[in-house]
Amino acid sequence: MTSLQETKIILNKYNITANKKLGQNFLINDDVIEKIILSANIEQNDIIIEIGPGLGTLTKKLIEKAGKVIAIEIDNKMINILNDRFKQCDNFVLINQDVLKTDLNKLISQYKKSFEKVKIVANLPYYITTPIIMKLLEEKLDIESITVMIQKEVAQRITADPGDKLSGAITYSVNYYAIPEEIIVVESDSFIPAPEVDSEVIKLYIRNIPAVNVIDEKMFFNIIKASFMQRRKTLLNSLTNFGITRDKEKLKEVLTKAEIDETMRGERLTIEQFAKLSNLISKSI
Ligand code: SAM
Repeated sequence: MTSLQETKIILNKYNITANKKLGQNFLINDDVIEKIILSANIEQNDIIIEIGPGLGTLTKKLIEKAGKVIAIEIDNKMINILNDRFKQCDNFVLINQDVLKTDLNKLISQYKKSFEKVKIVANLPYYITTPIIMKLLEEKLDIESITVMIQKEVAQRITADPGDKLSGAITYSVNYYAIPEEIIVVESDSFIPAPEVDSEVIKLYIRNIPAVNVIDEKMFFNIIKASFMQRRKTLLNSLTNFGITRDKEKLKEVLTKAEIDETMRGERLTIEQFAKLSNLISKSI
C-alpha cells in the first residue's frame, strides 16, 4: 500500500482532519520517505528521536530500521493513532509532549547506552522550525546528526555559505555547531494537505567541537544577531545600535585590531571573523 492510500485510510478511520495550527502536513510521497531514511543513515543499534510523528508514516519505516524509536508528539489525536499502530513494537517509545518543553538531554541519558548513536529524524512542524533546530543544537545533545524536512527558504538560509546573500544569523549559528548538507527539494504536492511553501530535506552533521573557538558564546551569538538585525547598516552602527557596546571609539579600536573594516556590513563576515571580533570584545569591552 502506498503512503497516500494509507494516509487516506487512517484519516477516514479516525475521522480527523489535519490541524493547521500544529503544522500538520502529512508526507505521502514514498520516494521522499525513502530518501529521508537513506540519508539519515540508520544503523541497527541507532536510537532515533522523531519529532512530530503525526500519523506514523515515517515512524513505521524508522521502527523497521532502528534499534529504538522515541517519538515526541504534542497532539492527543495523533497519540491515539500511534498507540493503535505501534504499541506492540518493543523498540517504540511514544512521548506525548511539546518538544520545545522536553528535556532531551535527560531523555537521551535515560535510553542511550555507550555504544549506541542517537540521530534525529523528522518532518518538522514549520511554525516552530527554527526554535526546534536551535534547541537541538544549543542544548549540546549527545547526537550524531539531524535529518529534517523544513521550509525550503529556511533550508537555503541554513545551507548558504556564510557571507553569501542568502545567509542569515541562522547560517552562522547552525554552522557553529554542525555541518549542513542539502538533501532534496520537495514540492508541496508530496503532503496532505499541501503546505503553502516548498520544502527541503537537510542533514546537519554535529561537530565534535564547535567550528570556531569562542570565549563567550552568548556574546558571539549576540554580535551575529545584531549584525543581521539591520543588514544594510555597517558593522560599527549595528553593534552600537543593538546593545553590544555604546563606546563607538573603543569598538573602532577593536575592529582595527581584528583587521575588520568598520564600514563593512556584518553580513559579509566569515564565522572566523565573527569569532575573532567576539573574543576581542569579550576581553576588552
Ligand atoms: N511525521 C508526520 C509526517 O511526516 O507525515 C507528520 C509531520 S507534520 C509536518 C508535524 C507534526 O508535528 C504533527 O504531527 C504535529 O502534531 C507535530 N507537532 C506540532 N507541534 C509540536 C510540538 N510542539 N511538539 C511535538 N510535536 C509537534
